[in-house]
Amino acid sequence: MRTPVIAGNWKMYKNIAEAVDFVEKIKPIADKAAHCEVVIAPPFTALAAATKAAKGSKVKVAAQDVHWDKEGAHTGDISPGMLLDAGCTHVIIGHSERRHDHGETDEQVNRKLKAALAAGLAAIVCVGETLAEREAGQTREVLERQIRDGLAGLTPPEFSRIMIAYEPVWAIGTGRTATPEMAAESHRQIRDLARNEFGEAEAAGVRILYGGSVKPENIGGLMAQEEIDGALVGGASLKVDSFAALINFPR
Ligand code: PEP
Repeated sequence: MRTPVIAGNWKMYKNIAEAVDFVEKIKPIADKAAHCEVVIAPPFTALAAATKAAKGSKVKVAAQDVHWDKEGAHTGDISPGMLLDAGCTHVIIGHSERRHDHGETDEQVNRKLKAALAAGLAAIVCVGETLAEREAGQTREVLERQIRDGLAGLTPPEFSRIMIAYEPVWAIGTGRTATPEMAAESHRQIRDLARNEFGEAEAAGVRILYGGSVKPENIGGLMAQEEIDGALVGGASLKVDSFAALINFPR
Protein backbone atom coordinates (compact mmCIF):
# COMPACT_ATOMS: atom_id res chain seq x y z
CA MET A 1 0.00 0.00 0.00
CA ARG A 2 1.60 3.24 -1.15
CA THR A 3 0.38 6.28 0.78
CA PRO A 4 -0.29 9.11 -1.68
CA VAL A 5 1.80 12.27 -1.44
CA ILE A 6 0.67 15.76 -2.37
CA ALA A 7 3.71 18.01 -2.67
CA GLY A 8 3.75 21.72 -3.49
CA ASN A 9 6.80 23.21 -5.19
CA TRP A 10 6.66 26.96 -4.59
CA LYS A 11 9.65 27.70 -6.83
CA MET A 12 10.71 31.38 -6.44
CA TYR A 13 7.46 32.54 -4.85
CA LYS A 14 6.50 33.71 -1.34
CA ASN A 15 8.41 35.70 1.24
CA ILE A 16 8.73 34.58 4.85
CA ALA A 17 5.46 36.12 6.06
CA GLU A 18 3.52 34.67 3.13
CA ALA A 19 5.02 31.23 3.72
CA VAL A 20 4.12 31.26 7.42
CA ASP A 21 0.60 32.47 6.69
CA PHE A 22 0.14 29.65 4.15
CA VAL A 23 1.43 27.01 6.58
CA GLU A 24 -0.86 28.24 9.36
CA LYS A 25 -3.86 27.97 7.03
CA ILE A 26 -3.00 24.60 5.47
CA LYS A 27 -2.06 22.85 8.75
CA PRO A 28 -5.61 22.03 9.91
CA ILE A 29 -6.49 20.80 6.41
CA ALA A 30 -3.38 18.61 6.17
CA ASP A 31 -3.90 17.28 9.69
CA LYS A 32 -7.37 16.04 8.74
CA ALA A 33 -6.09 14.33 5.59
CA ALA A 34 -5.36 10.84 6.90
CA HIS A 35 -5.28 9.51 3.33
CA CYS A 36 -2.10 11.29 2.21
CA GLU A 37 1.20 12.89 3.11
CA VAL A 38 1.62 16.62 2.56
CA VAL A 39 4.89 18.29 1.59
CA ILE A 40 5.60 21.91 0.72
CA ALA A 41 8.80 23.24 -0.82
CA PRO A 42 9.28 26.95 -0.05
CA PRO A 43 12.28 28.94 -1.30
CA PHE A 44 15.43 28.70 0.85
CA THR A 45 14.79 32.00 2.64
CA ALA A 46 11.45 30.80 4.03
CA LEU A 47 12.47 27.25 5.02
CA ALA A 48 13.27 27.84 8.69
CA ALA A 49 10.14 29.91 9.29
CA ALA A 50 7.98 27.38 7.42
CA THR A 51 9.32 24.41 9.39
CA LYS A 52 8.79 26.31 12.65
CA ALA A 53 5.20 27.09 11.67
CA ALA A 54 4.63 23.48 10.54
CA LYS A 55 6.01 21.91 13.72
CA GLY A 56 3.69 19.34 15.25
CA SER A 57 1.52 19.15 12.15
CA LYS A 58 1.43 16.74 9.22
CA VAL A 59 3.00 19.31 6.91
CA LYS A 60 6.53 18.32 5.92
CA VAL A 61 8.94 20.83 4.47
CA ALA A 62 11.23 20.22 1.51
CA ALA A 63 13.99 22.33 0.00
CA GLN A 64 14.05 22.76 -3.77
CA ASP A 65 17.72 21.87 -4.21
CA VAL A 66 20.84 20.87 -2.28
CA HIS A 67 24.60 20.73 -2.79
CA TRP A 68 26.51 17.47 -2.30
CA ASP A 69 29.26 18.89 -0.10
CA LYS A 70 28.94 19.32 3.65
CA GLU A 71 30.44 22.81 3.40
CA GLY A 72 32.87 24.66 1.20
CA ALA A 73 33.46 27.44 -1.29
CA HIS A 74 30.20 27.09 -3.23
CA THR A 75 28.67 30.53 -3.47
CA GLY A 76 24.90 30.42 -3.48
CA ASP A 77 24.65 26.76 -2.57
CA ILE A 78 23.14 25.08 0.49
CA SER A 79 24.35 21.83 2.10
CA PRO A 80 22.26 18.89 3.36
CA GLY A 81 23.23 19.76 6.94
CA MET A 82 21.99 23.32 6.48
CA LEU A 83 18.63 21.98 5.31
CA LEU A 84 18.38 19.76 8.38
CA ASP A 85 19.33 22.74 10.52
CA ALA A 86 16.43 24.66 8.95
CA GLY A 87 14.12 21.78 9.89
CA CYS A 88 13.64 20.23 6.45
CA THR A 89 12.81 16.54 6.14
CA HIS A 90 12.72 16.40 2.33
CA VAL A 91 14.49 17.83 -0.68
CA ILE A 92 13.54 18.02 -4.35
CA ILE A 93 16.43 17.00 -6.59
CA GLY A 94 16.80 17.28 -10.36
CA HIS A 95 13.77 19.46 -11.08
CA SER A 96 13.69 20.24 -14.81
CA GLU A 97 14.08 23.96 -14.08
CA ARG A 98 17.38 23.19 -12.32
CA ARG A 99 18.42 20.94 -15.20
CA HIS A 100 17.57 23.59 -17.79
CA ASP A 101 18.35 26.87 -16.02
CA HIS A 102 21.53 25.60 -14.32
CA GLY A 103 22.68 22.81 -16.64
CA GLU A 104 22.28 20.21 -13.90
CA THR A 105 23.31 16.76 -15.13
CA ASP A 106 22.23 13.26 -14.08
CA GLU A 107 25.66 12.87 -12.46
CA GLN A 108 25.10 15.94 -10.33
CA VAL A 109 21.61 14.73 -9.47
CA ASN A 110 23.23 11.50 -8.30
CA ARG A 111 25.80 13.29 -6.12
CA LYS A 112 23.12 15.49 -4.58
CA LEU A 113 20.87 12.51 -3.98
CA LYS A 114 23.54 10.46 -2.24
CA ALA A 115 24.55 13.39 -0.03
CA ALA A 116 20.94 14.15 0.88
CA LEU A 117 20.19 10.52 1.77
CA ALA A 118 23.42 10.19 3.76
CA ALA A 119 22.37 13.23 5.80
CA GLY A 120 18.98 11.66 6.53
CA LEU A 121 16.80 13.67 4.18
CA ALA A 122 14.10 12.04 2.06
CA ALA A 123 14.36 12.95 -1.61
CA ILE A 124 11.91 13.65 -4.41
CA VAL A 125 13.86 12.98 -7.59
CA CYS A 126 12.42 14.53 -10.75
CA VAL A 127 12.62 12.95 -14.18
CA GLY A 128 10.86 13.65 -17.46
CA GLU A 129 11.25 14.20 -21.15
CA THR A 130 11.10 17.41 -23.18
CA LEU A 131 8.54 17.87 -25.95
CA ALA A 132 11.20 17.31 -28.61
CA GLU A 133 12.23 14.06 -26.92
CA ARG A 134 8.62 12.86 -26.70
CA GLU A 135 7.96 13.75 -30.33
CA ALA A 136 11.12 11.91 -31.36
CA GLY A 137 9.85 8.79 -29.55
CA GLN A 138 12.65 9.01 -26.97
CA THR A 139 10.60 9.16 -23.76
CA ARG A 140 11.54 5.70 -22.55
CA GLU A 141 15.22 6.21 -23.40
CA VAL A 142 15.32 9.53 -21.52
CA LEU A 143 13.61 8.07 -18.44
CA GLU A 144 15.95 5.10 -18.57
CA ARG A 145 19.02 7.35 -18.61
CA GLN A 146 17.72 9.65 -15.87
CA ILE A 147 16.83 6.72 -13.61
CA ARG A 148 19.99 4.71 -14.32
CA ASP A 149 22.43 7.61 -13.95
CA GLY A 150 20.51 9.73 -11.45
CA LEU A 151 19.98 6.82 -9.06
CA ALA A 152 23.27 5.01 -9.78
CA GLY A 153 24.84 3.23 -6.83
CA LEU A 154 21.88 3.57 -4.46
CA THR A 155 21.38 0.57 -2.22
CA PRO A 156 17.84 -0.86 -2.02
CA PRO A 157 17.35 0.63 1.50
CA GLU A 158 18.47 4.03 0.17
CA PHE A 159 16.14 3.65 -2.80
CA SER A 160 13.26 3.03 -0.41
CA ARG A 161 13.78 6.57 0.98
CA ILE A 162 13.16 8.34 -2.28
CA MET A 163 10.10 9.29 -4.28
CA ILE A 164 10.26 9.80 -8.00
CA ALA A 165 8.37 12.64 -9.67
CA TYR A 166 7.57 12.06 -13.32
CA GLU A 167 7.32 15.55 -14.76
CA PRO A 168 7.15 15.77 -18.53
CA VAL A 169 8.88 19.09 -19.19
CA TRP A 170 6.29 20.11 -21.79
CA ALA A 171 3.57 19.93 -19.12
CA ILE A 172 5.28 22.07 -16.46
CA GLY A 173 3.72 25.51 -16.09
CA THR A 174 2.20 25.26 -19.56
CA GLY A 175 -1.36 24.35 -18.66
CA ARG A 176 -0.84 21.26 -20.79
CA THR A 177 -1.23 18.10 -18.71
CA ALA A 178 -0.33 14.59 -19.76
CA THR A 179 -3.52 12.56 -19.95
CA PRO A 180 -3.89 10.20 -16.98
CA GLU A 181 -3.19 7.31 -19.36
CA MET A 182 -0.01 8.91 -20.75
CA ALA A 183 1.23 9.63 -17.25
CA ALA A 184 0.39 6.11 -16.07
CA GLU A 185 2.30 4.62 -18.99
CA SER A 186 5.45 6.54 -18.05
CA HIS A 187 4.95 5.64 -14.40
CA ARG A 188 4.79 1.96 -15.37
CA GLN A 189 8.03 2.35 -17.34
CA ILE A 190 9.70 4.00 -14.35
CA ARG A 191 8.52 1.22 -12.04
CA ASP A 192 9.85 -1.39 -14.50
CA LEU A 193 13.21 0.38 -14.58
CA ALA A 194 13.25 0.51 -10.79
CA ARG A 195 12.45 -3.22 -10.65
CA ASN A 196 15.44 -3.98 -12.86
CA GLU A 197 17.78 -1.78 -10.83
CA PHE A 198 16.57 -2.30 -7.25
CA GLY A 199 14.33 -5.36 -7.09
CA GLU A 200 10.68 -6.29 -6.93
CA ALA A 201 9.77 -5.16 -3.41
CA GLU A 202 11.54 -1.79 -3.70
CA ALA A 203 9.92 -1.09 -7.08
CA ALA A 204 6.50 -2.02 -5.74
CA GLY A 205 6.94 0.32 -2.78
CA VAL A 206 8.36 3.44 -4.41
CA ARG A 207 5.94 6.38 -4.69
CA ILE A 208 5.88 7.85 -8.19
CA LEU A 209 4.29 11.30 -8.29
CA TYR A 210 3.04 13.01 -11.41
CA GLY A 211 3.89 16.66 -12.03
CA GLY A 212 2.88 19.02 -14.80
CA SER A 213 -0.03 21.48 -14.58
CA VAL A 214 -1.87 19.48 -11.92
CA LYS A 215 -4.93 21.40 -10.72
CA PRO A 216 -7.98 20.66 -8.59
CA GLU A 217 -9.91 20.04 -11.84
CA ASN A 218 -7.63 17.31 -13.15
CA ILE A 219 -6.17 15.64 -10.06
CA GLY A 220 -9.09 13.21 -9.70
CA GLY A 221 -8.45 11.62 -13.09
CA LEU A 222 -4.73 11.38 -12.44
CA MET A 223 -5.07 9.90 -8.95
CA ALA A 224 -7.60 7.37 -10.23
CA GLN A 225 -4.71 5.72 -12.06
CA GLU A 226 -3.33 2.85 -10.02
CA GLU A 227 0.21 3.80 -11.02
CA ILE A 228 0.01 7.43 -9.88
CA ASP A 229 0.90 7.80 -6.21
CA GLY A 230 0.58 11.52 -5.80
CA ALA A 231 1.39 14.86 -7.36
CA LEU A 232 4.20 17.39 -7.39
CA VAL A 233 2.43 20.66 -8.03
CA GLY A 234 3.82 24.08 -8.92
CA GLY A 235 1.33 26.83 -9.76
CA ALA A 236 -1.73 25.30 -8.09
CA SER A 237 0.17 24.81 -4.81
CA LEU A 238 0.55 28.55 -4.22
CA LYS A 239 -3.00 29.29 -3.09
CA VAL A 240 -4.36 27.73 0.06
CA ASP A 241 -7.76 26.94 -1.50
CA SER A 242 -6.38 25.11 -4.49
CA PHE A 243 -3.69 23.27 -2.49
CA ALA A 244 -6.41 22.24 -0.01
CA ALA A 245 -8.51 20.90 -2.90
CA LEU A 246 -5.47 18.95 -4.16
CA ILE A 247 -4.90 17.46 -0.71
CA ASN A 248 -8.56 16.44 -0.63
CA PHE A 249 -8.45 15.00 -4.14
CA PRO A 250 -11.57 12.99 -5.14
CA ARG A 251 -11.32 9.45 -3.85
C1 PEP B 1 6.54 21.77 -10.84
O1 PEP B 1 6.99 22.83 -10.47
O2 PEP B 1 7.13 20.74 -10.50
C2 PEP B 1 5.32 21.75 -11.64
C3 PEP B 1 4.84 20.59 -12.01
O3 PEP B 1 4.76 22.95 -11.94
P1 PEP B 1 3.25 23.21 -12.49
O4 PEP B 1 2.32 22.42 -11.61
O5 PEP B 1 3.03 24.68 -12.38
O6 PEP B 1 3.20 22.72 -13.90
